[in-house]
Amino acid sequence: MGFVKRTHTCGEIRAEHVGETVSLNGWIHRVRDLGGVKFVDLRDRTGLVQLVLAPETFPDSSNLRAEACVSFTGKVLERSDEAKNPKMPTGDIEIEVQSFELLGPTKPLPFQLSDEEQMQSVNEELRVKHRYLDLRRPSMHRRFAVRSSVIRRYRSYLDARGFLEIETPIITKSTPEGARDYLVPYRNDSGLWYALPQSPQQYKQLLMVAGMERYYQVAKCFRDESSRADRQPEFTQLDIEMSFIDQEDILTLIEAMTQEVVNGTIEEFGLDKEPVGPMERITYDEAMRDYGCDKPDTRFGLKLIDLTGCFPETQFAVFKNTIETGGILRAVRFPGAATYSRKEVSGLEEFCKELGAKGMAHLAVLPAAEAGEGAYISPNGLAIKSSIVKFLAEAELEAVLQTSQAEAGDLICIVADAWQTTNDVLYRLRLEIGDRLKLRDPRILKYLWVVDFPLVEWSDTDGRWSSMHHPFTMPKWEDLPKIETDPGSIRAQAYDLVCNGMEVAGGSIRINRPDIQAQIFGLLGIDEATQQDRFGHLLEAFSYGAPPHGGIAPGIDRLIMLLTDTENIREVIAFPKVAGGQDPMMGAPSTIDSQQWAELGLRRS
Ligand code: ASP
Repeated sequence: MGFVKRTHTCGEIRAEHVGETVSLNGWIHRVRDLGGVKFVDLRDRTGLVQLVLAPETFPDSSNLRAEACVSFTGKVLERSDEAKNPKMPTGDIEIEVQSFELLGPTKPLPFQLSDEEQMQSVNEELRVKHRYLDLRRPSMHRRFAVRSSVIRRYRSYLDARGFLEIETPIITKSTPEGARDYLVPYRNDSGLWYALPQSPQQYKQLLMVAGMERYYQVAKCFRDESSRADRQPEFTQLDIEMSFIDQEDILTLIEAMTQEVVNGTIEEFGLDKEPVGPMERITYDEAMRDYGCDKPDTRFGLKLIDLTGCFPETQFAVFKNTIETGGILRAVRFPGAATYSRKEVSGLEEFCKELGAKGMAHLAVLPAAEAGEGAYISPNGLAIKSSIVKFLAEAELEAVLQTSQAEAGDLICIVADAWQTTNDVLYRLRLEIGDRLKLRDPRILKYLWVVDFPLVEWSDTDGRWSSMHHPFTMPKWEDLPKIETDPGSIRAQAYDLVCNGMEVAGGSIRINRPDIQAQIFGLLGIDEATQQDRFGHLLEAFSYGAPPHGGIAPGIDRLIMLLTDTENIREVIAFPKVAGGQDPMMGAPSTIDSQQWAELGLRRS
């Protein structure tokens, strides 16, 4: 049976169509019954339009419920002046319905999706269970339109520069990126398993050995990690690899590509964002020194301040003990918080404690005249008020003022702890301060390259070195001799692209020489038998004229989050997993039947 197909889309009808008879296909957004006359807002992907049903023509239209799918035919009329709605692109007109046909009736809805505000409070699991309804919302359509545009722009940028889009297998062998693998049992031998790729890393390197020279793929990656607001078990990267290039070539290409793709999308959708400009570069060491993390939000300053040197012979037990046990003393300024109440300051202390600090010392910097009793008055006209002032020497307080460049009104928040804890806590405290002072302007996309990562880091739990990036990363040439003597100080030809405090891409120049690769595997404690078993194919391939190569993988989901001001990665993925990696709509993961158990030779333990 046929149906009356649309002559127009809902969003395109304007005053110029007045007098025409049009047919529209879409979903009922909302129905209002004004004493018999029914007003229906009809929605399709292009927008909304108002329809009017006269009771005399349609004595029974009770099946016109929100979210039913309907074909309407009617005449376009101009609305009276007072009925015009300037907020709606189609607000000058309405359509007098002559006939309609229910294409898909609807059951009562699990939630009212026409009201965006109300949707905010709907349980996420319920939304994902009925994702096909949740996705009908115009705000969702827009996110996926942005996503589609970004991917299209990436493709055309790379296509124009001689890249080949090549698909690599999903059912394969583990490629380590530091997460747990998803495993698939092999039916013909119950002892064998496939793994889903954590990224196409090895394949893209093998494509370079294969002479493809420039590769990309919009690639699904699978990592069995506990989900967080910015993580999903499967996510999408723009995977890139190139031959006969160095780090500079990749950084230049990706910077230009990001600017073109992001700025083009901002313009196309009229997003409230400033265009992306040139990207600053800092080293990993600088990032740790200034921000306590390798993915700093540089939309604002308030860099961390090292105060260890201000207390060389301190008598204040807390600081003294920290320094004596190899810890550090670092601080962040909180402008305007010098006048915080005791309760507000304890809130900050609690914040630090929850992140693992033993506490947070604080010095309020005030104009001398306002400091009151017990404060330390500096010759420069500033005063320091704090319960610990009495334990600190004048030279120490002066050194703190000098080093921190503190100004009147600042609260100097100090954490004294082990290097890692101090940095972790202050990194987050700085972001919290940035949030409270509204310094993290969503209109700005502040990109930044972090370069010169260490090659390896020591893992106390495993008692061995592990890769900072992945084991295929090339050390800096000049650091190669340190493999034997001082691995911790080797820097890698590895780089991350960071935006607004999120890592949005990571990559490296790769090892293309089997001897160096074997040496690095050795450093990582992967013995020769394991090397052969897990990576023998790669070492073998590298022994047939492997070109110098390197690459990067910008995360697509995270970019869409940034562009659409979304804090939850699930909102930019059409069919996401919720807590615990579940898909409540499909009911995945699910049981399998007894025949499948038997075929796979699996047994429940
Ligand atoms: N495979 C890396 C990742 O998934 C990216 C790269 O090194 O190109 O993070």
